[in-house]
Amino acid sequence: MSNAIKVLAKMDSFEHEQVVFCQDKETGLKAIIAIHDTTLGPALGGTRMWNYDNEEDALEDVLRLSRGMSFKASISGLDLGGGKAVIIGDASKHKTENLMRRFGKFVDTLSGNYITAEDVGMSTKDMEYVRMETKHVTGIPVSMGGSGDPSPVTAYGVYMGIKASSKFLWDDDNLIGKKVLVQGIGHVGEYLVKYLSEEKAKVYISDINQEKLDNVASMYGATIVNNDSVFDFDMDIYAPCALGGILNTANIDKLKCSIVCGGANNQFEDEIRDSLHLKEKGIVCAPDFLVNSGGLINVYSELKGYDRTKALEQTKEIYNTTLDILEKSKVEGITSYSAALKIAKNRIEAKKS
Ligand code: NAD
Repeated sequence: MSNAIKVLAKMDSFEHEQVVFCQDKETGLKAIIAIHDTTLGPALGGTRMWNYDNEEDALEDVLRLSRGMSFKASISGLDLGGGKAVIIGDASKHKTENLMRRFGKFVDTLSGNYITAEDVGMSTKDMEYVRMETKHVTGIPVSMGGSGDPSPVTAYGVYMGIKASSKFLWDDDNLIGKKVLVQGIGHVGEYLVKYLSEEKAKVYISDINQEKLDNVASMYGATIVNNDSVFDFDMDIYAPCALGGILNTANIDKLKCSIVCGGANNQFEDEIRDSLHLKEKGIVCAPDFLVNSGGLINVYSELKGYDRTKALEQTKEIYNTTLDILEKSKVEGITSYSAALKIAKNRIEAKKS
């Protein structure tokens, strides 16, 4: 089988509409733009720059990530499809203004069918370069008429997810005195700590960055937990807000909490296996791609003419959607992850018919 046909077979298995391979000798740009599904609207998703071991890994990543974006947009009720782009290379060595502008020109050739944004290895400055070549870019600075840093809105959505999970489990969404551990107190985690401490939850924090820990602990009165002891720690709510793939068979076995709800993307090492494991342990889990969709809601609002109040109002809806999904998971005896995926897929299918 030729490589071209293998790519088509991969597109078929992930159910993609379009994959665009971009190359430019002058700037050294090698990029792949994947458009998964545009049934609900233009495909929106960030650009990731990563030093992939090989092109197959880059293709696999962009297909998986863009598919995830379709479901995130769908579950959040947005008129957006799913897309993502990857630039192959080391962002610290190979990224230049010219490379980013050339990438912007490629994005422009898609006439808005794909809209880009910031992701791993990208900065707001890079989006400014992309913006010089195409208007199909979001997450640009407030000074340029954009929506700026999406993290506070993402954190608000996670906070809504935590409250909805508490309502579902304890019939009370009041978090006063609840022991909540936020692992990863970066952009999203720190804002989440703020919301939780304002509600007088007992907030615990862990991170690999001691300086951040000391700052956040003194600002919000949070208690530091050693990052190696998170899975030995007795808590009501565990909020993973660092990197993906944090939950696996071994640490779910140890996990001592009633609710998992955090901002990190792709929290499970294996979504099907690990979400089932949590369910079997009786731990309520709010799907990550739903509760962390505040950032996407924020950039969606930028497309319509940015209004922070409206973006927050729409993000607040994560509360009701989380409750619906947890209820569906209980009634149908399926994991909350499967319940969320079903709803997301159904919305896309309904629009097609
Ligand atoms: P960030 O880089 O600002 O913060 C990540 C924090 O996690 C840092 O403080 C880092 O020191 C810490 N960390 C890294 N590895 C760790 C480990 N092994 N154990 C404990 N702490 C560790 O990132 P962010 O923007 O806050 O994003 C956090 C997560 O949320 C990511 O998974 C991201 O994909 C996801 N997310 C973010 C947004 C957003 O709006 N920023 C939106 C959706 C999803």
